[in-house]
Amino acid sequence: MKNKVRNFNRIAIKVGTNVITQSDGSLNVGRMLRIVEDISVLQKRGMDVILVSSGAVAAGKSEIVPSRKTNIVASKQILASIGQVKLMSTYQFLFGKYNIPAGQLLATKESFRDRRHYLNMKNCMTAMLENGVLPIVNENDTVSVNELMFTDNDELSGLISAMMDCDALFILSNVDGIYNASPSTPGAELISEIDPLSDDPSACISNVKSEFGRGGMLTKYSIARKIASEGIEVFIANGMRDNIITGIIGGRDVPFTHITASPERKNGVKKWLYHSDTFAKGAVYINDGAKDALLSGRATSLLLIGITRVEGYFKNGDIVRILDSNGNCIGIGKSQYDSDKAKLKAGEKNSKPFIHYDYMVLNDIVKENASY
Ligand code: GLU
Repeated sequence: MKNKVRNFNRIAIKVGTNVITQSDGSLNVGRMLRIVEDISVLQKRGMDVILVSSGAVAAGKSEIVPSRKTNIVASKQILASIGQVKLMSTYQFLFGKYNIPAGQLLATKESFRDRRHYLNMKNCMTAMLENGVLPIVNENDTVSVNELMFTDNDELSGLISAMMDCDALFILSNVDGIYNASPSTPGAELISEIDPLSDDPSACISNVKSEFGRGGMLTKYSIARKIASEGIEVFIANGMRDNIITGIIGGRDVPFTHITASPERKNGVKKWLYHSDTFAKGAVYINDGAKDALLSGRATSLLLIGITRVEGYFKNGDIVRILDSNGNCIGIGKSQYDSDKAKLKAGEKNSKPFIHYDYMVLNDIVKENASY
C-alpha cells in the first residue's frame, strides 16, 4: 500500500532512551543529530514541533556510579541530575547548528493534577512555540519518586500532545512499530494501520522492556489508543532510521504503525479530565437511575439525589470517580462539593449538581486496580 502525504500544523515527537544512547548509556550524538536535522526540516516548513526526550538517567550512568550506600531512588535522581544537563546541552548545541533555540520543560505527574498548573504549563509551551523556541520535555526525574512517576515517557508524551492540541504524536523507539507477533519470531509482520475501534492487537504485543527505558510496546500501544481516541494521529516508528519523521509525513515508503485518530476531538477540560483518572481523591456510588441518566447520551450532570455513598476526603474542585451500585467505575469528574458536605447532602433534591456535565468524562477511562 502506498503511504500518503500528511499535513500537520503541530506535532509531538517522543524519542526513547534506546534511540539516542549507546549500550553504555552515553549519548549517541550522531543519532541525535539525525533527529534534530529531521525536526529542523519540519520547523522550516512552519510546523510546530515539541520534542519529548528520554535519556537523562542513561546519560548520567555513563558519568558516575553512585556509591553502594545510596538507595535506588536517590541513585536514579543523581543520575538524572547529571544526565539531564548533558542531554539538554547536547540538544542545544545540535539545534543551534540549525539556528533553532531549544528550551527545557521538566514535568512531574503532579504538574498535570492541578488544572491551574496544567494551564500554566500549556501557556508556557504555547509562548515558546510562538517565539520559535523548540520545547524539549522530560520528566523531572530528580524529584519524581515511584508512586508519583509517569509510567514512562510514552505516557508523558501522550499528556503533552493532548494538552498542546497536537495533530499527531510520533513515538520513536528502536523497532519499526507493532508486529503481529514478537518481532524476533520468523514471519512476524509489521502492522501498518490499526483502527482502535475495530482492531485489538494487544494479545500479540510483547512487553519486553529495554535496559534503560521504562516503557514497553504494550504501554506504547495503550497510550497510542487513548491519544488516538482524542482525535490525534499516532505513529509508532523506528528512530534509528534516518529521516523517519519526514519520511512518514512525506508519504515515503518507510515502515511504521499508524493508529488511526477518532474523527471527534475532545474539548479542553474534558481532555484534561480524560488523563486525570489517577489523580482521583475520592469516589461516589450512584443509584441505577442516575447511572441510566448519565449514560443516556444526553448532556446530564450528576445530581446529589443520585448519590448513595461518598468515599475518601476531597475538596471542592478535586477529581472524584463515579461508581455504579456494583462498584464499577463509569467515569470521573470535578466535584463541586467537598467530601464532608457531599456526605451530608447525598440523596438531597434541588441542590447544585455534584458534578457538572462540562466537567465529567464517562466510560473508557476505567483503570484496573485503582484505589478510587
Ligand atoms: N525520564 C527518563 C529519562 O530521561 C526516561 C523514562 C522512560 O524510559 O520512559 O531517563
